[in-house]
Parts: sequence; C-alpha cells; structure tokens
Amino acid sequence: MWPCGYVWVMSQKQERGDNSVFFAQEGKSQHGEYDGPDHQFAAMLEMDVLEDTPGVRFDDVAGLSEAKRLLEEAVVLPLLMPEYFQGIRKPWKGVLMFGPPGTGKTLLAKAVATECGTTFFNVSSASLASKWHGESERMVRCLFDLARAYAPSTIFIDEIDSLCSSRGATGESQASRRVKSELLVQIDGANSSRTNEDGSHKLVMVLAATNFPWDIDQGLRRRLEKRIYIPLPNFKSRMELIKINLKTVKVAADMDFTVIARRTDGYSGDDLTNVCRDASFEGMRRKLAGKTREEIRNMPKDNFAKVPVTMRDFEEAIKRVQPSVSAVDIERHENWYLEFGSA
Ligand code: ADP
Repeated sequence: MWPCGYVWVMSQKQERGDNSVFFAQEGKSQHGEYDGPDHQFAAMLEMDVLEDTPGVRFDDVAGLSEAKRLLEEAVVLPLLMPEYFQGIRKPWKGVLMFGPPGTGKTLLAKAVATECGTTFFNVSSASLASKWHGESERMVRCLFDLARAYAPSTIFIDEIDSLCSSRGATGESQASRRVKSELLVQIDGANSSRTNEDGSHKLVMVLAATNFPWDIDQGLRRRLEKRIYIPLPNFKSRMELIKINLKTVKVAADMDFTVIARRTDGYSGDDLTNVCRDASFEGMRRKLAGKTREEIRNMPKDNFAKVPVTMRDFEEAIKRVQPSVSAVDIERHENWYLEFGSA
C-alpha cells in the first residue's frame, strides 16, 4: 500500500494533468536534500510553492527603478557576494513590498529570483491559510527547512497580511497566533550561521508583499526591516509598460504612446495591461462584426494578426477599463510609507 502522502501528491498531479512520476520517499524530498522531519509536507510544498525558474527579468518590469535598486542591494547582492554581507552588513532579515494591488510586487519578486538564480518559493498566504488549515504552523516550519535545503533560495510570501494580521485583532484564533509566532521565529533563524558543505552560507532571503501594510503585526513589521513602497506607475513607467505590453503585436503608424500614458493617470500596472489587452482585440472585433460562426470558420486567420492596434482601439479600451485603485487607498499607502517605510 502507498503511504498516504504519496496518494495525495499523485492526486494533485493528476488534477494538474502532470504525468511525471514523483515519490515522496521516506526520508528524502524530490531532490534528496531535505533532512527535516516532515517529508510528506516537504513533498507537498515542493509541488505547490516551488518555482524553479520564474523567468521574469528586471527588464520585464516597467519603471520602479528605485525599488529595483533597493531589491538588488537588499536581496541580490548578498547572494552574489555573501562574504561582504557580514557583521553590521549582514543581510536584512526580510523585505516587505507594499502598495496598491496590481503594481508589480509579485513580478518584482519573480524578477529577483530569476536575476539571482535562486530557488523560488512562491507562497500565497491566503490560499495557504485555507488549504493548510490547522497545519499552517507546521507548514511554515517545513517551508523554511525546505528553503534551507535548496539554499540559496528566496521565499516570497504574498498577501502576508492574511497570515499575519495584528495581534489581538478581532477573531484572531489561537491557531493563527501560533502561525505568526512560528513565522517570526523562522524569519529570525533564516540566515543563521548554517553553511553548505563547501563552507558557503545557506542564504534564505525572505520577501513579502501586501496591499494592506497597516494590518501587519508589529513584530513582523520589525523583522521585515526593508519596507519598500511600490506605487502606481508614473507617466514614464506607463509609457514603458505600454511598450512592453505591445511588444508582440503590430502597432499602427498613428500610435502615440505619450497620449495613452497621459490618459491613464491613476491606472495600476495591471489596469493598464488590461487596457492594452482589450485594445489589442479591437481589430479582431471589427473584422468579425456581423459575421456568422460559419463565415468566421471559413475566414483566413493569418490576416487577423496583421491588423494593427490603433489609437482608436485604445480610446475605446480606456472607456471600458476604469482604474481599480481609489485615491483614498493611495493616500493610506502614502501615509503608511511616511510612518513606517524603510528604504
Ligand atoms: P501585485 O503583486 O502588486 O498585486 P502583480 O505583480 O501580480 O501585482 O501584477 C499583476 C500584473 O500587472 C502583472 O502580471 C503584469 O501583467 C502587470 N504589471 C503590473 N505592474 C507592472 C510593471 N511595473 N511592469 C510590467 N507589468 C506590470
């Protein structure tokens, strides 16, 4: 009979349509490096949160040059030159990116992992809190053990507020208090003196993101020593973002990126991506207007990609896609940045 962990892992793989054989062998994780006590948990985490190569580069992230510089110094350089980051220069315990939703926090975390070639653990607190209900504390411990086994590695905890809201908040259960305490202990110990066989440090960088920084427990806030504001894109970043988004489509000669960037003040990166996506479909919509299914089926499809995206397409898309972040929300972030930001 298979151990129950194996059955669980297989059913997860089948749900995802993944046919590769995987066996959470007793005493070993997939890569045989994990030597903690929770092998079944480790196997599940490897399945769920391990992303070997996120494949996003800093150049794929529009604007945010100051955030990129800070992340480079706080996360990338300690991995490249660990001997320098010792004593008073020891790496920051953790880095928090905060700001309105859809501004590129997750994208930046992925770019950091790609740029420094570390193993990337992408943890969504909200899904973990529900999925690992009752076991979250054990999961947190196992996650850090696993990250050390894969070191150098980056643990990215998205929506950290949902795992770590302020202590004593209404409805806070005994269990969620325990998860928080475990997370604090693990962050404290993440870059302790453990070393690899060749003497290099087992560096585990902790990166977190939140759209609600004011909800974060103060103990955790203290440990996330660098707190970087990721704001809505400014004019220059919006120009860059539009160019990145239109890289793969044909653009009409009348296209004026400056006009679109000016018209989308207040849009998040995600909103602007939606505008570009919507505009890029307009040519197809025009071609298909009034056609029956049969006519569409018989149309030569290679002509579709040749239809360029025009300024008019953007005007229509901007009318359809409204910005998702309110002025009140931005003000709240800016106030929190003034009070607790640490860049
Ligand atoms: P957040 O984590 O801040 O909520 P994401 O990083 O998940 O936001 O961004 C959502 C999507 O919005 C991305 O997949 C990307 O398409 C787009 N996006 C947002 N900001 C940027 C940016 N600065 N550069 C490029 N794309 C961006």
